[in-house]
Amino acid sequence: AKTLGRNTYQFFTKEMNETVSRRMYIEQALRQAIKQQEFVLHYQPVVSLSNGEIIGVEALIRWQHPNKGLIYPDNFITIAEETGLIEQIGQWVIEQACADLNHWQSLGLMLHVAVNVSSRQCKQTSQTPLKEVISNALLKHNIAPSNFKVEITESLLMDNSQEMITTLQEIRSLGVAIHMDDFGTGYSSLSYLKHFPINVLKIDRSFIQGAIDDKTDASLVEAVVLIGHSLSLKLVGEGIETQEHYNYLRELGCDYGQGYFISKPIIATELITLCQEVGDS
Ligand code: C2E
Ligand code: CA
Ligand code: CA
Ligand code: CA
Repeated sequence: AKTLGRNTYQFFTKEMNETVSRRMYIEQALRQAIKQQEFVLHYQPVVSLSNGEIIGVEALIRWQHPNKGLIYPDNFITIAEETGLIEQIGQWVIEQACADLNHWQSLGLMLHVAVNVSSRQCKQTSQTPLKEVISNALLKHNIAPSNFKVEITESLLMDNSQEMITTLQEIRSLGVAIHMDDFGTGYSSLSYLKHFPINVLKIDRSFIQGAIDDKTDASLVEAVVLIGHSLSLKLVGEGIETQEHYNYLRELGCDYGQGYFISKPIIATELITLCQEVGDS
């Protein structure tokens, strides 16, 4: 039993060390990435399901690593959050999204941009309060607050409700709308709708994709659309991958849609081409 105990123990610490050193490695690399400006934003169009028009985009961060190529956010956002580096990265995202939106506006494209925000960025104790980061960027790049959106998840609201409510109210007071991301995947979603200043619900893609074959998923999507509309919220269906998903949501009266069927996330120049093509046809 002793031997087994030791072996088990060693196995465990080895695993832990691997995790710790991997994290330390990524943390170091992230610090470097911030200095060397290795991040890029891709933009995924959001369309109105009633007429197919592109009304806005969601900014999605990628890390253009000099040797490893393009790294997707699921591989580094958690570590950026845990180390606090998300504050600087998040500021860059807001700044860059506003700069790009300013460029699109100068080309006559009418779009809004939505950015994802982590709970760490909403802390009242952060270096620069989120409200200031946003208001500075809007001012600098001449962006109307109504063209800028903030996406939060339910897990953020679970963190520290009072602090989060305060931050979200400050953002709302700028005239910036709050979108609740991945709606339905967290807990007690309904009570959040009562206590938090939310304007838009983004229905998680797992429900949309399930709704075609699964009665429970379909009932949930239909209920969310009804609840959302009765609370005067707008709805975005996420993860539209097929014509079937698209038609289903449109017929339900879901307001907006996003997904690979419409467009994958693309770089800023491709977005311009796409919007101009749509405009021409
Ligand atoms: P999210 O906010 O839920 O973003 C949607 C994710 O779904 C994106 O993955 C997008 O590429 C992907 N997606 C879009 N349409 C489809 C579809 O039709 N099918 C499928 N299977 N996937 C689709 P991505 O870009 O890898 O981002 C993953 C997550 O990373 C995001 O999920 C968001 O939570 C986080 N993230 C991205 N950018 C930022 C950022 O700037 N700051 C923070 N804090 N988090 C970010
Ligand atoms: Ca999002
Ligand atoms: Ca989402
Ligand atoms: Ca997500």
